[in-house]
Amino acid sequence: MPAPALSLLDLLNGYRVTQALYTAARLRIADRLAGGPQASDELARTIGADPGALRRLLRALASFGVFAEEADGRFALTEIGSLLRENVPGSLRAGVIFYGEPRHWRAWEKLDECVTSGHTVWGPRGASAFFEMNAKDPEGAAIFNAAMTSFTSALDAAVVSAYDFSRFSTLVDVGGGQGALISSILTANPVLRGILFDIPPVIEGARARVAERGLAGRCELIAGDVFASVPSGGDAYLLKWIIHDWDDEHSLKILRSCHRAMSGSVTLLLVERVVPERVDHSADTQSTLLTDLNMLVLTGGHERTEAEYRALFRASGFSLTRIVPTAARICVIEAARV
Ligand code: SAH
Repeated sequence: MPAPALSLLDLLNGYRVTQALYTAARLRIADRLAGGPQASDELARTIGADPGALRRLLRALASFGVFAEEADGRFALTEIGSLLRENVPGSLRAGVIFYGEPRHWRAWEKLDECVTSGHTVWGPRGASAFFEMNAKDPEGAAIFNAAMTSFTSALDAAVVSAYDFSRFSTLVDVGGGQGALISSILTANPVLRGILFDIPPVIEGARARVAERGLAGRCELIAGDVFASVPSGGDAYLLKWIIHDWDDEHSLKILRSCHRAMSGSVTLLLVERVVPERVDHSADTQSTLLTDLNMLVLTGGHERTEAEYRALFRASGFSLTRIVPTAARICVIEAARV
């Protein structure tokens, strides 16, 4: 077969891989293999799965390095597969569940409509509609919040080691979710104090997690609406994966709201992917641009180029000072209040 046809056919497999991973995560296969390799029949008995069908799933995922097929035919966990375990450091299980669960999965089915209309699957209100839907759907919201925590926990060490937070005294994490990133930053910077800010149900869910990490005394939790106001008193304001959720109009409202909360020389830090001006074939760019499509489908936001961030800053009273890359497909975009 001609090489371009092979390449295209390989690309077409993306959704099958997603659903195979999702199924493995739902069936908790990785947790069941944590004690050592197992025969697929044995695993099928514990799961209550069809033995032949389960073996096919395991072999398909083994071909991608998620599991390993041993010489005796048993299946073992690999380093990649271990990330499907629940409650282990670096677990991505919640992220896999989010990609494969019906709400997200069925939304992507309508990518063509989104491209035609330019709107999200929920219509032109985008992220507002998405977060309102979360408010009415605690189960969907729990899946979303857990996914954010798992993705963020996978990259927080890279952010903490790439950027020096020790020069700040109070860091406000705006839309900080369940507190994964601010907790890691506070742990690495023992003198720093933190304020975790998010909507009320998310802050409620964050309380126990922040306490679990021994940070209840150093991290204040404040619930609110970023469009109304942001807590004052920080000398650094961090927004990770917030601006990319929103169109320019709402992004400017968020940045202006941060600007109003700030006084004196305060640093704004966006933790986001930065889209290259020209497309290349790196896995980094592919992942960034697929996330951009995810924003088109789900939130109406964008992944942006450096020039686009500069323009947003200019229009909201900030000026970009530098972009600090990290080892994890994400950058710290630093801006000063002007
Ligand atoms: N910063 C976290 C979460 C990103 S997801 C991380 O990177 O893991 C976007 C976050 O914005 C969610 O936690 C969501 O609850 C929060 N959010 C959405 N609308 C908000 C609003 N109006 N006010 C405050 N936070 C909001």
